[in-house]
Amino acid sequence: MEKTIFQYSSPGRIGVSLPVLDVPETTISKKFARKEAIGLPQVTEGQAMRHFVRLSTKNFNIEEGLYPLGSCTMKYNPRLHEFLARIEGLAAVHPLSGDSSVQGTLGIMYKLGESLCEITGFDSVTLQPAAGAQGEFAGLMLIKNWQEARGQEHRNEVLMPDSAHGTNPATSTLAGLKVVSVKSDEFGKVDVEDLRQKAGENTCAFMLTNPNTLGIFESNIEEITKIIHDAGGLNYMDGANMNAMLGIARPGDMGFDVCHLNLHKTFSTPHGGGGPGSGPVCCNEILRPFLPPSTVVKSDDGYTLLDSTHKSIGRLLAFHGNVGVLYRAYAYIRTMGSKGLREASEVALINANYMKTRIKPYYDVPHDDGPCMHEFVASGAEMAKKGVKTLDIAKRLLDYGFHAPTIYFPLIVKEALMIEPTETESLESIDAFIDAMIAIAEEIDSKPHLVTDAPVNTPVLRLDEVKAVKDLCLVEPIE
Ligand SMILES: *Cc1c(COP(=O)(O)O)cnc(C)c1O
Repeated sequence: MEKTIFQYSSPGRIGVSLPVLDVPETTISKKFARKEAIGLPQVTEGQAMRHFVRLSTKNFNIEEGLYPLGSCTMKYNPRLHEFLARIEGLAAVHPLSGDSSVQGTLGIMYKLGESLCEITGFDSVTLQPAAGAQGEFAGLMLIKNWQEARGQEHRNEVLMPDSAHGTNPATSTLAGLKVVSVKSDEFGKVDVEDLRQKAGENTCAFMLTNPNTLGIFESNIEEITKIIHDAGGLNYMDGANMNAMLGIARPGDMGFDVCHLNLHKTFSTPHGGGGPGSGPVCCNEILRPFLPPSTVVKSDDGYTLLDSTHKSIGRLLAFHGNVGVLYRAYAYIRTMGSKGLREASEVALINANYMKTRIKPYYDVPHDDGPCMHEFVASGAEMAKKGVKTLDIAKRLLDYGFHAPTIYFPLIVKEALMIEPTETESLESIDAFIDAMIAIAEEIDSKPHLVTDAPVNTPVLRLDEVKAVKDLCLVEPIE
């Protein structure tokens, strides 16, 4: 047998029993046959099961504890969604099935699209993008194509504040547009006068993360979107932080023309680790002709997938998009109802404000301008002066049983800790996290080595983070 890196492998052990062949046996041509043994581990079903279950317990996850990863909205995902997404008639449909045989799936896509339009204040939607960043790209391409269609192809600038989420400049560049940075004030809010000066005949679009990366809502929003419209540009809202305003405020009412949503954040789908996501794009009527193909339309005969119009920006993903995520988001919206969605945002805001207020006596909260939205950014700059970095605080939190907040982002805060508790945490778990943060602050003064040596309670100690990503080791260490 080929030597494998799997230490439990032993020749002849097997964990599957294949069903009896029910088609004629055949041989494959030598050309396609494998030339060397593949070297798979030979283990029993029980061994394989233990291996994967053990591995799964070595990674922190939302089922284990609070996961305040700012901007990522790591909320608890109700099991009901998993149950619904696994119903055979939904989970087992084939992407090449004709429309008439997948009416259930198309119906869910249609109704989900209607709900997302209602939530954002727009009237058209594509469910195709596979992630928030791909949604941003799609939205910018809609705007770019709209500009070209009205003879304004020279407009090649996207204006955005320097506090923008990192994907915003990245997707603008990918869309072939030039990023023009607009100044922001000390609260990360747009400097309206600077925007007025920079908006002009080359403005294609304005892109705004709202609430911004400091968890602060843009207070001059109607003035800002009007400046861009008057200059001949369109307004894009990065709606990945929609968890802050469900049922409270709508981008379409604020003068935006298009926005994306992160179903895998706000609309409750397990995410992280590169799993499937979904970043639908909602837009107003003028951008509708440019949408990618495969939007669902309803007629007397039922639901059908629309082919592209000649103006379409083209396909972004095969087939219907990440349908499993769409099912979960639909289940979430229907079980919450409009009152429940608003309540989710209200509780998310209350939780973040409660945490900020209790943490503030121990950690600096630099841009604190009254109540925050769904998240806030603390700073470890004072601790860094004592020789303990924000990275150390993040590692020590693991010892206390919590995932770390987002760190070193946004860049406008030194030693940033971006904290988003979400609405699904109980008062007890929120208090326990705050107590851990306070305990760490006290350790920094009394026994700083506890923090700089952390973590000590995790399966592996401090890793070289760059190397760990490039050089994954999924084999259990031999004990
Ligand atoms: C998460 C996030 C994105 C990107 O979403 P992905 O699904 O990770 O591509 C964009 N903008 C903001 C504000 C986000 O929080």
